[in-house]
Amino acid sequence: MTEAETRELLKHRLGRIESRIAAACARATRARSEVTLVAVTKTVTDRVARLLPALGVLDLGENRPQGFWRKAEAMPELGVRWHLIGHLQRNKLDRCLTHRPALVHSVDSVRLLQALEAEAKEQSLSLPILIEVNASREENKQGFSPEEVPRLREEVAKLRHLRLEGLMTMAAYDAEPERCRGTFREVRELRERLRGEWSLPLPRLSMGMSNDFEVAIEEGATLIRLGTVLLEGLENEG
Ligand SMILES: *Cc1c(COP(=O)(O)O)cnc(C)c1O
Repeated sequence: MTEAETRELLKHRLGRIESRIAAACARATRARSEVTLVAVTKTVTDRVARLLPALGVLDLGENRPQGFWRKAEAMPELGVRWHLIGHLQRNKLDRCLTHRPALVHSVDSVRLLQALEAEAKEQSLSLPILIEVNASREENKQGFSPEEVPRLREEVAKLRHLRLEGLMTMAAYDAEPERCRGTFREVRELRERLRGEWSLPLPRLSMGMSNDFEVAIEEGATLIRLGTVLLEGLENEG
């Protein structure tokens, strides 16, 4: 595919995704502006990822620190807001934060929370984060169980260089997205509870992927993380 063809394909897919997002917002009587599309570029080359900002997609996500560095270094001039959405090793935080991620979605342990706070202090940042909740309770998934999260209160109260803005979750893959609704609802309800108990606004809920984003929007997602539905088949382009 030429670059022009790739751009046309992305434009076409974005148009279809946009109407699905708008329809889900309408069903939930939410404003379209409440939902941010984060394009997950982990499977594609820098060349494909670089086409997205010009098409209006400025929020890009990577799940691995190395992929994040590489892409952030390859396109420093495009005004991208980078989202870190996957498990972070503590020895990689220094280099990750150097690139000033817009949001870290995947804080999945107390040790990571403490290490991030220390590194954000070192780099004099006020870094927005989300706590990852394993609401589908799959053993192979990272994140705190919904029961553990309220017990993080003291740790969260100690933060000076991290700003906790909400929760993130990944639903279990299900051919019937409707069955993910309970997971999303549980995370939204957990957020309501924490808002009261922790007196924090917690405005953000990162939930919904290619398979289930419409249900996630109906249940209150403010960030949806889309890879496959936007970038499938472009893995080897460029
Ligand atoms: C890969 C990935 C996504 C995107 O998943 P798709 O099903 O391809 O849309 C979203 N969130 C996380 C954490 C991911 O690793």
